[in-house]
Formats: sequence, C-alpha cells, structure tokens
Amino acid sequence: MFDTDKLAISFSGGRTSAVMTKMLLDKFPKKEIIITFANTGLEHPDTLRFVKDCDQKIFNNKVVWIEGVTTHQARKGMGCKVVDFKTAARNGEPYREAVKKYGLFNKTNPSCTGRLKVEPMQKYLKTQGFLRGKKLNHWTAVGIRSDEVDRISRKRKELKFLYPLVTWGITKEDVLRECSKWSFDLKIDEHMGNCVGCFKKSIRKLCTVAKDEPKQFDFWRDIEHEFKELKAENNYDPKTGYRRIYRENRTVDEIFEISKKDDFRRFNSKDGLTQLTMFGDLDKTTGCGESCEVYADENW
Ligand code: SF4
Repeated sequence: MFDTDKLAISFSGGRTSAVMTKMLLDKFPKKEIIITFANTGLEHPDTLRFVKDCDQKIFNNKVVWIEGVTTHQARKGMGCKVVDFKTAARNGEPYREAVKKYGLFNKTNPSCTGRLKVEPMQKYLKTQGFLRGKKLNHWTAVGIRSDEVDRISRKRKELKFLYPLVTWGITKEDVLRECSKWSFDLKIDEHMGNCVGCFKKSIRKLCTVAKDEPKQFDFWRDIEHEFKELKAENNYDPKTGYRRIYRENRTVDEIFEISKKDDFRRFNSKDGLTQLTMFGDLDKTTGCGESCEVYADENW
C-alpha cells in the first residue's frame, strides 16, 4: 500500500478518521506511525473527549495533540506547539490568532485548514524526521471514505497521500458499524463536528447548532465583529463592505433568524427523508461540512 517505513496519520477527531487510524495501526504494527490531532480551539468538548478516548483505548496513546502558532511576521508560516487533552485550547485561541493575521476565513479565504492543521502538522513531522519536498520520505493517510472520493486530492501521488478507506471500500455504514463495537463513541451528531461554527457547514447545520447550543456562536459573533474590516478589500459583502464568514455573506444573527422561522426544519443525520427532500439553499455543503480533513476538499 505504501513504500516507506514512515506513515503520518492526521486524525481529525471524527469517527471516519478514528476507524481509519485503528485499521492502520492494526494492519501495520511495524511501521513508524505518527498520529497528530490538530486542535483549532473550536472543536466541541465531546470531540476532544472522543480523541482522548480513542487515544487511550484503541490507539495505544500514540496521538500527538498539536496547535498552530501564528507568527505575526510577513512571509513567515505557522509554527506548532504540542499540547495535551488538559492543556488544549478550548476558546478558539489558535483560530483567533490566525484570523488576526489572515483575516476572517470564508469561502473566498478558506485556508484555515491549511494554516491550523496542515502547516502545524508538517512542522511537527519535520521535527520527527518526516521530511517533505525533494526529500519526501513518508506517506500521509487521510480519512476519506469510499463514498467521498470527490474529496481526494489531485496531487495525491506526487505528495504521497494515502486514502486507505477508499482502497478498502469502507463506507459510512461500515464506519458506524465498527464504532458500535467500541466501548465509547462520539456522542454529538454530525452538525456539531470539528469547528462547531465552521463556515463550510450547510446553513441548515449551522441553524441547528444555533438552536441546540447557541453559546457555540459567541466566538464567531465576536470575531465577525472584531475583524470585519481586516483585509476586506477584495473579499467583502457588497452591501456593507465588511468581510463575512458565512455563505451568501450571512451573519451569525442572520443564522439565528433563520433558525427561529416557523418552517425551519432542523438537521438530523438519522432522518434520511430530510436529507433527500430538503436539498436547497440551506443545504449547500462540501465534504468538509462533515469532517475537516487535511489534504481534502481542495476545490472548495
Ligand atoms: S473545521 Fe472549518 S473552520 Fe475549522 S479549520 Fe476546518 S475548515 Fe476551517
């Protein structure tokens, strides 16, 4: 499957990524495997708990918790620091620092995954002898399932990205079946995954977050206000001149307004009917609306 001894796994904190990581650890016990989890500071508390449980119960304590460190100098990339379950940021600190430098992330400036996950991961891997560029000496496994092949990177061969779940034909149902065998599980539904207020999620998912856990939007409302003018020259809402976070230049307050409408139907991943019959403006999404994986969704 891969021709080096070194394998990097980017664990996103979701079920798919967890199943992939477990399968790789089981299949390749002799490989030098580094598992990183990049914390943005905006994951749901249950995602962090799930990462800890996976690590302690099925990954043999191999997960390295990392966070991006923004260097506020021109032409200087992100740094990386190692944290753990206890010290991991929980109030969006890494994300906020990146916004301070790069402006609000949104559809036109979607580089938060790169800044807060890919770059810190690469920095950490380099310290462990996992080199890139001409000396690329490792493969990187990415948690994309066989029902999500449109999320695969076009540069997968030259950059040595591995999509084991695609190769093995693992679907969402397979992932759920595997997780149901474990003594623990992710307790939150899909709309709460990764950065809870992620701009790549559908408006329906975001409205459902607004209904279920409105406090999750406090951070997003704050940064929306504080950084609305930063780098807004070419990336702004024509009505106000401000840079916005959400689709169609919607604000957090507008998301709350939609969620309060009488005819609003909440997102429910178990409601197949909802998925089939409600595909409209509120349901536009990308794969990343479900999970934030490195080296995926490059066409967003
Ligand atoms: S979950 Fe969304 S907001 Fe968070 S890093 Fe990924 S793409 Fe960005």
